[in-house]
Amino acid sequence: MQLPTILALAASSASLAAAVDVDTTGLRLIKTSPEDLGIWVTEEEKLVMAFEHKHFVDITDITDPAVLAILSTPDSEEVSLAARAVTYPTSATKQSTANPLINQVSNTQPQSWLTTLTNFHNRYYRGVNGTAASTWLFNTVSQVAAANPAITVSRFTHSFNQPSIIVKIPGTTSDLVIVGAHYDSTGGSATARAPGADDNGSGVVCILEALRVLANARYAPKNTLEFHFYGGEEGGLLGSAGVFSNYKSTGKNVLAFVNQDMTGYSPGGRITVYTDYVDSSLTAYARVVATAYTGTTSSSSCGYACSDHGSARSNGFPAAYIADEPIGTSSPYIHTSNDALSTIQWPAILRHSKFTVAFLIEASFV
Ligand SMILES: [Zn+2]
Repeated sequence: MQLPTILALAASSASLAAAVDVDTTGLRLIKTSPEDLGIWVTEEEKLVMAFEHKHFVDITDITDPAVLAILSTPDSEEVSLAARAVTYPTSATKQSTANPLINQVSNTQPQSWLTTLTNFHNRYYRGVNGTAASTWLFNTVSQVAAANPAITVSRFTHSFNQPSIIVKIPGTTSDLVIVGAHYDSTGGSATARAPGADDNGSGVVCILEALRVLANARYAPKNTLEFHFYGGEEGGLLGSAGVFSNYKSTGKNVLAFVNQDMTGYSPGGRITVYTDYVDSSLTAYARVVATAYTGTTSSSSCGYACSDHGSARSNGFPAAYIADEPIGTSSPYIHTSNDALSTIQWPAILRHSKFTVAFLIEASFV
């Protein structure tokens, strides 16, 4: 945990930018593997771990023994799902519904949105910039959703000052199909520049573009569709942990959750399906949809606590993780000031926006 050089670098950047709006001296309990019983670290140590690409989940506020048990279960052992009421289709069968909507997908709005997102100094979840980003995102999401008065937009508040944002297109059933992406960013310290273009402004704009298309079409699904924008992912999956803990305790029936974290840097030019710490049945279905609508996919794995699908999984919901590239060839810039708009490969964004529409349409019928 002691990384003196990096800590010194982080400290030296403290004078560069805006102040942090909360006390960051309190210790947090994090877990870095199923076997790890937990270690207490400072906020600054968490930021350095993220800078070093070390994955962790912040379990300080997790009290549900069943959730903690899953977080301590190796990936090789299948976890028991609290709810999965469907058998997923083995082929994509809704092209006639999905294709006219997919034809409406473009990069025009995503380019504008990602420009704004990356112009925030950072989107650190405990800082004033992260709060400002949440306000801008809530307003933008609300404007997009306003094309269909049936759609609701709400803030889901957390102990930190960066709410998650939840959009709902009500279906004829309350069963949920959810797509999600985190919108915070990190650059190694609370004050470091962190444009977070690929990680994860890219995922945010893909989900927002899918919402724009479905809202404009006034798409009326069978299953209820939700679009989640999480705060605090870089602090240890905090936003998604709060949301899915609430969904578990309130008995919501989640048919599918697909997380997208990094969708804008893909030398390989293929959607990548991640296969560890996910639900294998849903993952197979997500691959079926991705293949039918975008062509051949790649596979990869990213380890423990690598993104928000971990929170859905630990609360007993079926989760999948889709990203732009296998881990070994993914963006070399993430968690630094170099994760900039100029590095974004727009064909990848377009591919993931189309996939998001396709998945929502296909899964809205399951
Ligand atoms: Zn991320």
